Amino acid sequence: MDRRRHVLICGGAGYIGSHMVRALVEKGWEPVVFDNLSTGHHESVQHEGVTLIRGDLMDKQSLRRVFAEYSFDAVAHFAGLIAVGESVLSPLTYYQNNVAGTLNLVEVMVESHVLRLVFSSTAAVYGNPGTEPIPENHPCLPLNPYGHSKLMVETILEDCCQAYGLRSVALRYFNAAGAHPSGEIGEAHASETHLIPLCIRAAMGTGPELKIFGDDYLTPDGTCIRDYVHVCDLADAHISALEFMDQGPGMHVFNLGNGNGFSVKEVLAAVEKVGGKPVPHRMAQRRAGDAAVLVADSSRARRELGWRPRYSDIETIVRHAWNWHMQQKFGGE
Ligand code: UDP
Repeated sequence: MDRRRHVLICGGAGYIGSHMVRALVEKGWEPVVFDNLSTGHHESVQHEGVTLIRGDLMDKQSLRRVFAEYSFDAVAHFAGLIAVGESVLSPLTYYQNNVAGTLNLVEVMVESHVLRLVFSSTAAVYGNPGTEPIPENHPCLPLNPYGHSKLMVETILEDCCQAYGLRSVALRYFNAAGAHPSGEIGEAHASETHLIPLCIRAAMGTGPELKIFGDDYLTPDGTCIRDYVHVCDLADAHISALEFMDQGPGMHVFNLGNGNGFSVKEVLAAVEKVGGKPVPHRMAQRRAGDAAVLVADSSRARRELGWRPRYSDIETIVRHAWNWHMQQKFGGE
């Protein structure tokens, strides 16, 4: 049987989506990317076999045209706004984009009888969990509109699985990090808020000194602990999820993390070691909405998806991110 599939990748020009597109291309598939390019980059998907359609999930008519033109087997949905702080200041924008946009997508999928969806969810749905590592059945109490918007979509998908026979997998990412080993694509956020790229930019002198958001948490060194997971490993999990949905209808939720927590200070030390340069930094206030510790129990993904992260080592994750930033700094010179 021909295993090649026609997959629509919403938000495929963004950080995680573009790595998924690359993973599909490496497997010989021909993904169609639908992206409004508000935060994504067309260069990230300029690759043989990839079709880029510029469009917005808020525009249902343009979605309908895309579904009429192509015969998709499944959709992977990465499009969404992701900055926690911004979501607190502009909740309506987050609910519009992340919730209303997904409603449009699912509506058009159901109309078009395309009933397989892999959805990008987040560890932010857990809020400030009381346990570590966190299993999927831990109560979900998001701390901010971003986390709420993702949890709302999970609930909507669950209902649509019941009502319309949708098959859906929600992947709750912990801290996506790293870059493609080729150095060709990476984390290209115009206004960066994430720890590893900020450390790297500070070390390279292309960004300001790093502010460490709080060193008075109840953790061994006082700084927050996160579970960093390589973006290519996330992409692999999406491919496994596409195959997993062959097994039958229903909604399934999986955590994606390595199960190893690293503090902000440990990440900073890893960047200094990999880059061979100091990361200029200073202590700052806690950032609102930050949980002290977020570490995944991903045993369900390992067991049911057969997911095996290839790059679980923090130094490898940082090295790939560092190499991509070097490409950005010197690649064009
Ligand atoms: N962090 C920090 N300084 C920064 C950015 C992040 O100390 O400039 C900390 C943040 O408080 C959190 C960790 O680094 O504990 C990871 O934050 P990031 O924004 O990368 O991901 P999040 O965990 O919010 O998804």
